[in-house]
Amino acid sequence: MQTKKIALIWFKTNLRLSDNECLFRAIAENDEVIPFYCLDDHLFQTTKLGFKKAGGFRLKFLKESLQQLDTDLRKAGSGLLLLNGIPEKEIFRLAKEQGAQSVYAEKEVAPEELSTALKVEAELLKLNCPLLNFECRNLLHSSDIPFTISQLPDVFTEFRKRTEKTVIIRPVFPKPSTIASPPVAALNLTLLDELISGDIMIDSRAAIQFKGGAEAAHQRLQHYFYQTKGLSTYKETRNGMVGEGYSSKFSAWLALGCISAKEIYTEVKAYEALYGANDSTYWLIFELLWRDYFGFCMEKNGVRYFSRSATQQPKATNPEKFDAELNKWINGQTGIPFIDANMIELKLTGFMSNRGRQNVASYLCNDLKLDWRYGAAYFEQQLVDYDVCNNWGNWAYLAGVGNDPRANRYFNITKQAANYDADGSFQRLWLN
Ligand SMILES: Cc1cc2nc3c(=O)[nH]c(=O)nc-3n(C[C@H](O)[C@H](O)[C@H](O)COP(=O)(O)OP(=O)(O)OC[C@H]3O[C@@H](n4cnc5c(N)ncnc54)[C@H](O)[C@@H]3O)c2cc1C
Repeated sequence: MQTKKIALIWFKTNLRLSDNECLFRAIAENDEVIPFYCLDDHLFQTTKLGFKKAGGFRLKFLKESLQQLDTDLRKAGSGLLLLNGIPEKEIFRLAKEQGAQSVYAEKEVAPEELSTALKVEAELLKLNCPLLNFECRNLLHSSDIPFTISQLPDVFTEFRKRTEKTVIIRPVFPKPSTIASPPVAALNLTLLDELISGDIMIDSRAAIQFKGGAEAAHQRLQHYFYQTKGLSTYKETRNGMVGEGYSSKFSAWLALGCISAKEIYTEVKAYEALYGANDSTYWLIFELLWRDYFGFCMEKNGVRYFSRSATQQPKATNPEKFDAELNKWINGQTGIPFIDANMIELKLTGFMSNRGRQNVASYLCNDLKLDWRYGAAYFEQQLVDYDVCNNWGNWAYLAGVGNDPRANRYFNITKQAANYDADGSFQRLWLN
């Protein structure tokens, strides 16, 4: 007769010890916990739109983030177990083998991720082992906002006005100093190493050399906030395109949850107390609210966020022409220097500025009029900071799909280049 209460903790895009409700609750409510990550076979497949689910930049960042998480867990007396395969099979097997009474996991909102979670939940029920879900992604908790997800405003400004002055951001969950676990086997990342296939060379012109993991995330925060005081001028610089300093570059760490939005919010408040609040310190929180909004929109819209726009050309009409135009866009060969420079940056580094992303996406949707989902799928493969809600949400927004389907979110590329790369330095950097 088992007397110990054992829980599994399924790490997904919350690869951190601090401000992690799954970890916090699992430790508080059980005698022993087993933290694990499941490298889902699905991550290594090519999707029906013809792109890899995750390209090399993202896999490298994931590998570094898992290594850091394992290191941090081991310092607390535990470790990270790596499962490879189909989540519902592997997690069922582990739960059965360990006699786990529950599995703690991050709540999902996007269709594919949700479907995986539901399959896992169904398998675990056979063991009478519930899957317990906790929100780990956003600044605002869904139970604290003054409307249900189905009543989510279709326009961001309304969402912001109804939340930012009324919703209190919950405090961060403390980082556990000790974690009681049975012995956890050493982290074996051979599969990821094989898939990354050799060193990923990141171009020396890259805006930043990303390194995965909570430690690097906090170092970046210290650098951007305190060493350079970049936060105090964020609103003026955020539309820049060259170098590490024009924006926070928090996106990749946020995407895998190496740092949480609440942790960043708390640090902004601490910074404001020391150096004063201004439009820029507020604007970083404003952008984090956009991130929340896309998270809630994904929950509301589900598969509608992945549907074709009637104003764009489906591939089936003329596949050869479609592929030729798409490939020119991907490879930075459209002949429009501002677009090409951005697309080359993405190809060689896995990153592109927000200004660049808006322009290249608008160009694909409105000028080339190609089915926007191919652009979003290429971004999914390529971006080091890929986040399902932010990527598909921003693309759907520009393509006029999903909520707020206002047509004509058109960017005049010539004007944009003149405004945001007036001296041409960004274009010269990538086109020479
Ligand atoms: C077509 C398109 C695709 C995108 N795909 C992604 C993606 O896969 N992952 C991703 O994290 N962001 C995505 N974005 C949003 C945005 O471009 C990036 O978050 C930002 O450029 C990352 O750089 P940063 O961290 O320096 O941003 P900062 O300007 O410093 O902003 C701080 C944080 O606020 C959030 N944020 C800023 N702008 C947005 C926005 N428009 N939507 C949602 N959150 C935002 C991000 O978490 C970002 O890290 C996309 C935008 C577009 C137009």
